[in-house]
Amino acid sequence: TTGLDIAQIRKDFPILQQQVHGKPLVYFDNGATTQKPQVVIDAEARYYEEYNSNVHRGVHHLSQVATDAYEKARHIVAGYINAAHSHEIIFTKGTTDGINLVANTMSRRFLKAGDSVIISSMEHHSNIVPWQIACEEAGATLKVIPITEKGELRMDVYESMLDDTVKMVAVTYVSNTLGTVNPVQDIIALAHARNIPVLIDAAQAIQHISIDVQALQPDFLVFSGHKIYGPTGTGVLYGTTEWLNKLPPYQGGGDMIKTVTFAKTIYNELPYKFEAGTPNIAGSIALGTAIEYLQQIGLPEIQQREEALMAYAMQELRKIDGIRFIGDAKNRSGVISFLVHNIHPFDMGELLDQQGIAVRTGHHCTEPLMDLFQVPGTVRASLTFYNTKEEIDKLVAGVKRAASMLL
Ligand code: PMP
Repeated sequence: TTGLDIAQIRKDFPILQQQVHGKPLVYFDNGATTQKPQVVIDAEARYYEEYNSNVHRGVHHLSQVATDAYEKARHIVAGYINAAHSHEIIFTKGTTDGINLVANTMSRRFLKAGDSVIISSMEHHSNIVPWQIACEEAGATLKVIPITEKGELRMDVYESMLDDTVKMVAVTYVSNTLGTVNPVQDIIALAHARNIPVLIDAAQAIQHISIDVQALQPDFLVFSGHKIYGPTGTGVLYGTTEWLNKLPPYQGGGDMIKTVTFAKTIYNELPYKFEAGTPNIAGSIALGTAIEYLQQIGLPEIQQREEALMAYAMQELRKIDGIRFIGDAKNRSGVISFLVHNIHPFDMGELLDQQGIAVRTGHHCTEPLMDLFQVPGTVRASLTFYNTKEEIDKLVAGVKRAASMLL
């Protein structure tokens, strides 16, 4: 369906050549983490082999090379999401780290007793618990946007929830459990009409959907490097200059300061104010390489291929006797959650694994959502552009075989 040479592209990912339990690996756990192309692995290694050095500190040659590479990666990220300034890109450890940074600093300065924060029913634990902590400390209330049976946000209810107590809205772009693509543009516009800032959790969107922060206008947007073909322990917090300047520092330490005396510290400017200590230099550089790799293939081509794969997977999975989809939103990306008859997801996952097929089973860090659907968990197949129709056929056959053994 697209001009992409997938057989060739798959050769870029060494792990995909592997056998698991004597069968070629079929990797459908991309929502948990994506595989890394060789260029990313090489970029990380090259830092340690050729210019390992601390950033922003030394005048010596290696430190300058490392600093340049680290700041180049920041520019690549800024370009990818069309940030107006590269100082609006803060390198973090991942989505969780970015949300904690915002929840912690926002609540210390801007949340007080009687205020409220809005999240949605389909949030990952990492976009629930930091806000619970923040609300608890401030005496504020956490409010939750309900969803329909299909797993879509009740936008009418959301609109009615936006009263004067609301100081923050934090929602996911794409649900990691249901695959629902939320109408983030509308969510942001409705909040902004009341001057309420919005954080978008883009952990499951950044690798599938083109994001232009100047068009979308979130106040904050966070994602993890490891879900966009980059290394673990890397991530990005985008924030508007205005908000990042308004927030107090998160962690104190080296690099985030301009001058320190025992009486008073002057904080550094953006983005360094939020990057205390020696950062994950190699990781962030390799994250830049991952984004360049993705840009070379082309996000529109990737998007088109993934949509075709999703449609094919749904069409074929629907044919399985007793299958039930958890979440059946009209607008979906990357993720399919299902159960077959009353088979426990763990049993299904184990039998699939024996056939070399990697899926995720369980609650996917969305326990409240599982409670809403009254299921113990789901089997989740999450796909990406390097997956193939043949792999989907193997998944469908594998689910049928597992069902016949378990029923
Ligand atoms: N939000 C969503 C929607 C996610 O899918 C994930 C990862 N599963 C996270 C947040 C947390 O990301 P990380 O563990 O990389 O911090």
